Amino acid sequence: MSTCLFCRILSGAVPASKVFEDDRVVAFDDINPQAPMHVLVVPKTHVATLNDLAPGHDGLVGALVRTGAAIARTRGFDESGYRTVFNCNAGAGQTVFHIHLHVLGGRTMTWPPG
Ligand code: AMP
Ligand code: ZN
Repeated sequence: MSTCLFCRILSGAVPASKVFEDDRVVAFDDINPQAPMHVLVVPKTHVATLNDLAPGHDGLVGALVRTGAAIARTRGFDESGYRTVFNCNAGAGQTVFHIHLHVLGGRTMTWPPG
């Protein structure tokens, strides 16, 4: 069995609160939300970090971003604004080494991020 947490969620071995799924991606609520909306959009293919992306993943990355935007729109944050984040490696805060797009909304976001 995979030791990757998000692969385990994808297989159903670990439960998650799914909000969207299609043939390429799954989206679920973050277990430790940092905003009223905090959804993670995860590819069904295991890719550890952004550094491991190849040209063949371009469509998959497009699906991640477009799915995040669609979820934000569904929640009513498309006009007011929302934050999307890919953390890459530990120094940027990545703790799960299976790429995922954070989609956060429902509170004021500051810049620069912490
Ligand atoms: P990152 O730190 O960018 O790798 O993001 C990993 C995210 O996964 C964090 O925001 C965690 O709160 C979240 N997380 C960890 N375990 C789970 C879980 N079992 N279900 C949902 N989200 C999780
Ligand atoms: Zn994985």
